[in-house]
Amino acid sequence: MTPTSIFGLPDQAPHERVLLATDPATGLKAILAVHSTARGPAFGGCRLWQYDAETAALNDALRLSQGMSLKNALADLPFGGGKAVILKPQGEFDRSALFAAFGRAVQSLDGAYITAEDVGTTTADMRGLQAVTPFVSGIPRDGAFGGDPSPKTAWGVFVSIRAGVLRVLGRDSLDGVSVAIQGLGAVGWHLAEFLHRAGAKLVVADVDAAKVERAVAQLGATPMHVAEILAAEADVLAPCALGASLNAQSIPAIRARLIAGAANNQLATPADGDALQARGICYLPDYLVNAGGIISVAREYRGEGEEQAVMAEVSRIAERVEELLDRVQSADSTPARVADDWARAKLVRPAQA
Ligand code: NAD
Repeated sequence: MTPTSIFGLPDQAPHERVLLATDPATGLKAILAVHSTARGPAFGGCRLWQYDAETAALNDALRLSQGMSLKNALADLPFGGGKAVILKPQGEFDRSALFAAFGRAVQSLDGAYITAEDVGTTTADMRGLQAVTPFVSGIPRDGAFGGDPSPKTAWGVFVSIRAGVLRVLGRDSLDGVSVAIQGLGAVGWHLAEFLHRAGAKLVVADVDAAKVERAVAQLGATPMHVAEILAAEADVLAPCALGASLNAQSIPAIRARLIAGAANNQLATPADGDALQARGICYLPDYLVNAGGIISVAREYRGEGEEQAVMAEVSRIAERVEELLDRVQSADSTPARVADDWARAKLVRPAQA
């Protein structure tokens, strides 16, 4: 999808700033999108990805940073929303030099944007950035809370699925509930483990066959082709790969009654949320259920992190899922639209940031 305006997404509040950063010496081409600082500095991860076109990268940065504003607001974090994408250089490149150049771009925003890891970036990359800018999180430090946020993200998705299964399927346990997982990466794998421990039956797909084989061997999962996973015969669908998987092509074939997964921007367009509702499928918005990671890196950044307290805070995502489903009932609307309104109303500075 191509943005119609470089100043923001159509029909949405414009972004506060968008920085196009280049560094010919390292091959850096990056887009740092600050959607909103109304609640505090814009906080969101950095994606390293090979895009088909620069406009696709811009669109990704704009959509992801707006999603971070909504995610951070619904999670009651004292941060605004931002996101960065680095266009992966063709061929060989010096990764540490590339990230150092990216770090200088982050630093040039003087704290308006704080970065962390996302698809294609690692805790080691974040550690490298730390030498260039303090506006980075998601780094393991001796004796302090922090590091890879994906287990926390997975836990938030897990408690959301549990809450959704109770409300939508009327089942108070995940024992025997079938869950189709698209993508067994950092989050998808941890989610699969949590679900397996809770007695769920797993159906899994990943473009990386080795990850699927591991899930079959270790978690008793049923493998499925990547082209078929969204239409799997399962109670729950958990998209944990990339965005826009819920679209006009995939929605008519979906058989799950509940969708809750880690991938950002799962709906290709807002109308796809309506289409899911029309088919009687309950879609729990991605930015509500996948906030565990940002809760983790935000607490780490503020030096407030402690494992048990952060896990408890992530577990409270389930309460928001319940509140959302209550709001949906009384508003006679869809979860996606109600969550959007709820989050946008919170795009103001918190009373005690
Ligand atoms: P990851 O790169 O580790 O995992 C993604 C997995 O999806 C990989 O195993 C990849 O092989 C697989 N995949 C790609 N295309 C696929 C397809 N068409 N079908 C099936 N599998 C496919 O990324 P991650 O950190 O696990 O994140 C997954 C999603 O969750 C992303 O959209 C990310 O933005 C989002 N997310 C992640 C976090 C986090 O803490 N890591 C937090 C919030 C949101």
